[in-house]
Amino acid sequence: GNIPKIVILGAGYGGILTAQNLQKALRHKEAEVTLVNRHDYHYITTHLHMPAAGTDSIEHARVSISGLIDESRVDFVKSTVQAIKLDEKKVILDQGSLDFDYLVLGLGGEPETFGIPGMLENALTIRSINSVRLIRDHISYQLAMYKNDGNPARLTFVVGGAGFTGIEFVAELADRLPMLCREYDIHPQDIKIINVEAAPTALPGFDPELVEYAMDVLKRKGVTFRIGVPIKECLADGVIIGEGEKIPAGMVVWTGGIRGNHVIEEAGLEVMRGRVKADEYLRAPGHDHVYVIGDNSLFMNPEGRPYPPTAQIAMQQGAVCARNIAAAIHGKEPQKFKFSNKGTVASLGRGEAVAVVGGRKIKGWVAAQLKKIVDIRYLFIIGGIPLVLKKGRFF
Ligand code: FAD
Ligand code: NAD
Repeated sequence: GNIPKIVILGAGYGGILTAQNLQKALRHKEAEVTLVNRHDYHYITTHLHMPAAGTDSIEHARVSISGLIDESRVDFVKSTVQAIKLDEKKVILDQGSLDFDYLVLGLGGEPETFGIPGMLENALTIRSINSVRLIRDHISYQLAMYKNDGNPARLTFVVGGAGFTGIEFVAELADRLPMLCREYDIHPQDIKIINVEAAPTALPGFDPELVEYAMDVLKRKGVTFRIGVPIKECLADGVIIGEGEKIPAGMVVWTGGIRGNHVIEEAGLEVMRGRVKADEYLRAPGHDHVYVIGDNSLFMNPEGRPYPPTAQIAMQQGAVCARNIAAAIHGKEPQKFKFSNKGTVASLGRGEAVAVVGGRKIKGWVAAQLKKIVDIRYLFIIGGIPLVLKKGRFF
């Protein structure tokens, strides 16, 4: 008979784990597996705050996809998904199209700007290798410009949103800017790093004692917090916050939240902020052959609230999604997805971090070592020892 076609969209945490697990779960020629991704590399999103600030190289944050999959079993297509035609079981790429019997949606998130005027146009975001290159170069550009026009606003760096992404990024900025100041003959005291957060606390929902610790560490590194004040507008030369106060700035990085992918919204699936509510087998409601994983999926916890979109859940979903597609092909029962929370570790720059693991609070140097272990574990899962040696950061 016909060999079923499985198409995986996106080679992020979810997509890579799906492809790798399908390689294991299916026998040769049992299905045709195609993985589609905009770039020929997988990026380690959880690491992007570092190359964004310039505290680490871009090469540590990306891995060539051909090294992660067995190309005799998974066909990799470097292309951008333009549209998904669910009724025709077809995916439209920027060149050509692909037919599918099973589809996996793992295209990841996009910045959520909540319609804040000017945000899309004027702010930078930490979403991809290309977007972090812009941030890294913009920082240097502003310092160089300051040495030519003396405009002090160029030395103000605003980060909008103090969720995990915002906090991890300001920490790197605070580590990086003093080094750059030496290079550009600028007094470090003239630099301002301002993290603006609308909620009544930084890291809303995280352990309050660790939030306080994190803020203390960052304040000591020179970060100023504006908590409980929303950004109302983003301009080319700063932001408007609260009741109309303007903060002139040379760079605004928006870390105010993420949403699902617009391609999925446009496919006609029912979405909440661009994310599809998955059933317990990770399928899109009403589409038994369409699976949603990672930042594209909205998976409910036992209390009926969605789990936050993390790399951790994306990886676990990728593995279960692969197993369930293989089960469908083998005529076996699918498995219910159950999230196993391994904990949260947030880096606070060099030698500092906060973590909650198994209900235990960990901070400082020990938490920072834990972060390295988490990163190395991921490299090991997707690429074994060779990838750990190539991309791992041990110091
Ligand atoms: P992604 O990893 O975003 O992958 C999506 C892939 O799809 C990308 O390769 C992209 O290029 C591709 N793609 C997108 N659109 C198209 C298209 N139209 N056509 C073709 N390809 C396309 N989570 C944690 O659990 N722990 C952490 O420590 C952590 N740290 C983070 C730090 C930062 C700075 C950020 C930004 C996020 C962090 N997260 C962390 C969250 C985590 O990165 C995401 O939840 C995770 O990446 C989601 O995985 P995914 O597979 O759904 O999508
Ligand atoms: P987020 O949605 O978690 O945080 C966004 C923050 O921006 C919130 O605190 C929100 O109150 C604030 N905000 C929104 N509108 C604002 C406005 N107008 N002005 C000022 N502040 C505003 O987004 P994120 O930090 O990018 O995280 C996305 C996901 O990735 C989360 O699930 C997170 O857990 C995960 N993540 C995890 C880690 C980690 O585990 N180390 C690191 C980064 C991200």
